[in-house]
Amino acid sequence: MSLWCNKWKKKKQPVAVNDNQRRRRYQSVRQPTAGHSSRPSLLIMGEWPPGRNAARETFGDEFSKLHVDTQLSTSHAIPLKNVDPVVTPIYHTSTRIMAKTSSTAVVEIRRRKNVEVIINELEGGAASLLYNSGLAALSAVFLEFLGSRTHMIALCPLYSGTYSFLTETMERFGVEITFINIEEEPDVIDALENSIRDATRIIFFETIGNPSMAVPDIAGTLKFAKKYKILSLVDATFSSPYNIQPIKLGADIVMHSCSKYIGGHTDTIGGVLTTATKTNWERLKKQQLTTGSALSPFDAALLARGLKTLALRVEKISNNALAVAKFLEGHKKVVRVIYPGLESHPGHRFAKATMKKFSGMIAFDVGDADDAIKLIENLRLIVHAVSLGGTESLIEHPLSISHGPQLMRGEIRVPHVAPGLLRFSVGVEDAKDIIADLDRALAQI
Ligand SMILES: *Cc1c(COP(=O)(O)O)cnc(C)c1O
Repeated sequence: MSLWCNKWKKKKQPVAVNDNQRRRRYQSVRQPTAGHSSRPSLLIMGEWPPGRNAARETFGDEFSKLHVDTQLSTSHAIPLKNVDPVVTPIYHTSTRIMAKTSSTAVVEIRRRKNVEVIINELEGGAASLLYNSGLAALSAVFLEFLGSRTHMIALCPLYSGTYSFLTETMERFGVEITFINIEEEPDVIDALENSIRDATRIIFFETIGNPSMAVPDIAGTLKFAKKYKILSLVDATFSSPYNIQPIKLGADIVMHSCSKYIGGHTDTIGGVLTTATKTNWERLKKQQLTTGSALSPFDAALLARGLKTLALRVEKISNNALAVAKFLEGHKKVVRVIYPGLESHPGHRFAKATMKKFSGMIAFDVGDADDAIKLIENLRLIVHAVSLGGTESLIEHPLSISHGPQLMRGEIRVPHVAPGLLRFSVGVEDAKDIIADLDRALAQI
């Protein structure tokens, strides 16, 4: 702190700044990642290169052979060189690499790019873009690739906020939307075939549908979109990027709510898009510069921290969830358990074909709303709260909270939620303690 401050204080601040000086300053702050280009240029809109991964540059081709946990642990964007920050940056690090030259400065504005580099490595895309929430990321794609008299297809069930944005905002701008209920359509590909039009621009789905954990034919839908050259957009939030990388399966754009598994600690809100092509990334980047929907550096730093343990957390959470789902499936008071890792799940084969593990989201039905609420009240370890993907086990009753009238406004064209359904986000506690808590509470209903 003091070292940095002293260095800064010694600098004379010019009182009046002329245009050339201002331009030079702008360049030094906004210069693309060092080494990318030594050509001094006023950055115009088309020149925002994605970040580069320092670990990939160190390892070269060998980087791809590292395991995912090692990739996550080593990836970070190459820091800016020769940068004079305008205000005191937060050095959100407890140590620093000993540089050969002492002029290396890491500024806070790189935090975003840092996280984008790490997520893109994981997804195997062209580049990633961070947003200030998951919905900001999703709506950016809808706004960029749809317009009046265009059409999109959304597989459902889906997240209530997404549903409301599509029906309240996009339809107001003349976008037509077909919802295909995958819980009722025996053959999604057939339904897609019957729904596409010349004006269809996007096919959108969640890898694990909210709140009933329905899993569509992921590989088949992506293949279908490719065949008809329609942009495929995948919300993979519930699976986490550890368990599935849709771009590797042919998706055009993948979205995650970083508020969930990527952040992983229930303390930040963010969203990310990863695109398969640089062209689509550039379109979205340009749009983001004008909509101002970017993540704050501090939140980005929290995501960088969360990503360090993504593999550890999701691995344990996925194992816990499978154990809990099996316990619930064998319990006489539970009418139905919907977990993609169970063979009884209607989309199990689609999940198995595309996901490493099945993540931490379980839906289970205890028959009616009164029992569902009573069960929640009797829990001691598992917390009653919305959201998901954190270290603590959380449970909610979708009909009264996330999929109730507050969030699902207007005419509902997506599947109705069973009254006794509970949505459970399994945490990192010991599976035996989670099961004991459920067992106790189930005995009381
Ligand atoms: C939470 C969530 C979103 C929205 O993310 P925010 O970060 O809360 O805006 C979108 N899709 C899914 C599946 C989610 O769980």
